[in-house]
Amino acid sequence: MTETTGRCLCGACVMTIEPGPEAGACHCDFCRKWSGGIFIAVDAKRPVRFADDAPIGVYRSSEWAERVFCRTCGSSLLWRSVDGQHNAVSVQVFDDPAAFPVTSEIFTDRKPVTYALAGSLNGMTGPEFMAQFSPDEEG
Ligand SMILES: [Zn+2]
Ligand SMILES: [Zn+2]
Repeated sequence: MTETTGRCLCGACVMTIEPGPEAGACHCDFCRKWSGGIFIAVDAKRPVRFADDAPIGVYRSSEWAERVFCRTCGSSLLWRSVDGQHNAVSVQVFDDPAAFPVTSEIFTDRKPVTYALAGSLNGMTGPEFMAQFSPDEEG
């Protein structure tokens, strides 16, 4: 997909994103606490651009990652690595979240038993996922 626009609940945060085609869910403790649900995100091919930085809040959730939110309405917008290499944008910022099929889920070992996503998804536990990277903690 080419560049598209996303926004938070109140509209103060407007972002330009070049999203990948598919979405993935993260069940880790950090994402569930932060988003208030399941964090379902699309990898952006380059860092997200904000129309105005003033309403943007940034929470440094670990040594290597931070979470961006709207300071006005509290919407969870994206997770990104501090080095800018990874940008996982919430599908909820898009007008049509269904444009991004959910094909994978990570931290399946942290998922509460009270819910499950439909369909057969590529699943990875936290340790399996983190083995792809050098840090050994959630972000
Ligand atoms: Zn907002
Ligand atoms: Zn997570």
